[in-house]
Amino acid sequence: MKHFLLSLLILSVLCACSGTSEPPKSEQPLDSNQQIISLSDIHFDPFFDNTLYPVLAKADIADWDSIFNTSSITPTYLDPNDNDTNWFLYKSTLNDLKTRNFDPPFLIITGDLLLHNMQRRFDASVSEADRLSFTIKTMDFVYLQLESVFPDTPIYAALGNNDNFMGNYSIEPGGDFLEGIADTWYRSIKANVDSVTFYQSFLANGSYEARVNNDHKILSLNTILFFDGYPVTSVAEESVYTNAITSQLIWLRDQLEAARATGQKVWLIYHIPPGADVYKTVSSKALSKNWTSSSNQVFLELVREYQDVITAQFGGHTHKDSFALIQNEDRSTPISFIHTTPSISMSNRNYPGYHHIKVNADFEVLDYDAYFLSNAQNYASARWEKEYSFLEAYDITSYTPESLWTLREKLNSDTTLQKQYINFFNVSYYRPSSSPNISAASWKAYWCAMGNQDFAAFEGCWK
Ligand SMILES: [Zn+2]
Repeated sequence: MKHFLLSLLILSVLCACSGTSEPPKSEQPLDSNQQIISLSDIHFDPFFDNTLYPVLAKADIADWDSIFNTSSITPTYLDPNDNDTNWFLYKSTLNDLKTRNFDPPFLIITGDLLLHNMQRRFDASVSEADRLSFTIKTMDFVYLQLESVFPDTPIYAALGNNDNFMGNYSIEPGGDFLEGIADTWYRSIKANVDSVTFYQSFLANGSYEARVNNDHKILSLNTILFFDGYPVTSVAEESVYTNAITSQLIWLRDQLEAARATGQKVWLIYHIPPGADVYKTVSSKALSKNWTSSSNQVFLELVREYQDVITAQFGGHTHKDSFALIQNEDRSTPISFIHTTPSISMSNRNYPGYHHIKVNADFEVLDYDAYFLSNAQNYASARWEKEYSFLEAYDITSYTPESLWTLREKLNSDTTLQKQYINFFNVSYYRPSSSPNISAASWKAYWCAMGNQDFAAFEGCWK
């Protein structure tokens, strides 16, 4: 494995020096009114028609779309297996992105590109090597399809808890899965960081930095390592994970410090956000944490220390359209926001959705438009359409920590506005009657979590 990595690094350096790659689209500064595309929780399911598996396993991913098109199952956007994203839904999403003629300077994907619990879906007779190969091919296919719509546009993704080979929430630092997907992930960021730097952090713990232009950079964090309840099965493994967690947090601090020194602004993208897992907290009636207390605390301290550097944070994981705020230590001022883009997958009973986000030349978020697949439960009548524009829908003039804080206060007292927020939270729903989301009884927990990422502060607000 060591020899392989070394040759990979040497090869990448050679490729970077050969001068054959096209100049990155993002060499130019952002102009004042560009819009980026934010996707999350795609959860692509290659098993939606499992009769195709033997053909797919042998085929090149360049042929997968034509193989999927031979499926004889009746087209539906609701995957009968798990409500994740089958070929019909992914194709429809890509087609919508294409026909709208967006021209984003880059795309972000806040994790979970692969279906839920992929490894459980293989037939028991499939060998481990073949499972690994098929898992990596599935990831590559998701990218290849997106790149066919945006061939010159950098794609910055973060790893989700289903993007792995070892089982849910188990991304192995330095493991075969990271090694297997690294080339595709590097290719898609369009050489916006040198390859040695990328492979070093990505192979070690799944994080990386990418330069958007001279003034702006994106840090993609692997927050699965921070997950409270990270599966550790042996003492030997535990030290590997502990080292990966510590090294990622040190890396994050170094990155933020370097950015400050050169006057760069930074976006953080990740899958699992900090703070409470509200869904589990509500159902268990006791605090459930997204991250361990120590990772959560160190991270919040870093955000506070580098609030002049970080202009936005983007998370996923909940599959819901929402925002959350981080306050300064004495909780007198909101200093940073976490924007959450909803899922393409319908597994959490929301319609598929994505965001088209307005950004200014200072790398600040101005506003966003939400798009969704309305009536997705009905293949024939489903339509992609604009759901809403944020500032217009909430009648506010900016998307900043301060204005979102004021909006959060208003949402607690204005029941009409609150109803609208809950509707958009669920991407206008597809299955309202069984939706286990925000109710009158659980509103307080969701509202407290919108403003408090420290666990003690959340509990103080909620109880
Ligand atoms: Zn997900």
